[in-house]
Amino acid sequence: MILGIECTAHTFGVGVVEKGKILANVKDMLTTESGGIIPLESAKHHTRVAEVIYKEALKKAGINEIDIKAIALSNAPGLAPCLLAGMKFAKSLAEKIKIPIVPVNHCIAHLEIGKTAGASDPVLLYASGANTQIIAYAAGKYRIFGETLDIGVGNFIDKFARHAKLGFPGGPKIEELAKNGKYLELPYSIKGMDVSFSGMATKLQQLYNKGEKLEDLSFSLQETVFAMLVEAAERALAHTGKKELVLGGGVACNSRLQEMCRIMCRERGAKFYCPAKEFLVDNAAMIAYLGEIMFNAGIFESVEKIDIKPRERTDDVDVKWRYGYRKLRSL
Ligand code: AMP
Ligand code: MG
Repeated sequence: MILGIECTAHTFGVGVVEKGKILANVKDMLTTESGGIIPLESAKHHTRVAEVIYKEALKKAGINEIDIKAIALSNAPGLAPCLLAGMKFAKSLAEKIKIPIVPVNHCIAHLEIGKTAGASDPVLLYASGANTQIIAYAAGKYRIFGETLDIGVGNFIDKFARHAKLGFPGGPKIEELAKNGKYLELPYSIKGMDVSFSGMATKLQQLYNKGEKLEDLSFSLQETVFAMLVEAAERALAHTGKKELVLGGGVACNSRLQEMCRIMCRERGAKFYCPAKEFLVDNAAMIAYLGEIMFNAGIFESVEKIDIKPRERTDDVDVKWRYGYRKLRSL
């Protein structure tokens, strides 16, 4: 039984996994009326809700504290105050039950949870608020094949939504408005497998200020920005020769993005996997899920040794669990 803790940004979650089966996935997300998330506020939120979320997860899973073999902690990457709050909770629990901690990279967990949807060795299109990356396993590491050169796609959408006084989060509102829009040309910016949004952000603001209809702007935003993401993902599939695409991140909840991925995969004979919404957004089940795989491979740390890595890159992670680390450690 592995307990997972998610704490990298606005969400504090606790998940329970046993033999790859998800027994609980409980979370609480900090929401704000205006502006974005302030790291220190979010950390306070995590500390405030931790105990309640933890108890609820144990109850949902129908287990006792002593059943937990290890704690999987999303120690990277993320907002330092949030990671610290999560680590503090994980450490006190680990000390109390006398169990080790498995350090889990949040981005890789988004990819690995795609396996519960049926994927085995996929390319991940990770489209969230702060992150926009195309990740796949190649030559011993999870590599970033493409990413945003400026801000994350969700933050880009939210920024425009805020400018248009739509409130936060903007993604679902833009999706709704887009249903009744028509196409206006916007700057399309993709360089290799990297994307950038700043040109489009400026153009959208100008068009909005000129009085263009919000429906048309929303539709055009979605068509343009998702086409960029799908093009980059397709190029990664072609380059790696992989045959599976998985979605992750809050923006992946968008049905138009899902549809475009489905069409692209069908056209090139690849399989498309879209995890359920609770596993697309930030969640602790995915941390527990990857944590169990790592734990079974002998990857864990003592309470004293564990630390946060706010800026860890996906390709910094030594993927020992994919080449039989258990043998190495027991030697
Ligand atoms: P995350 O950072 O993974 O928690 O995702 C949060 C981001 O997802 C925010 O920027 C939201 O605006 C965005 N988002 C949520 N739902 C949708 C949607 N239906 N379409 C587009 N973006 C969305
Ligand atoms: Mg995430």
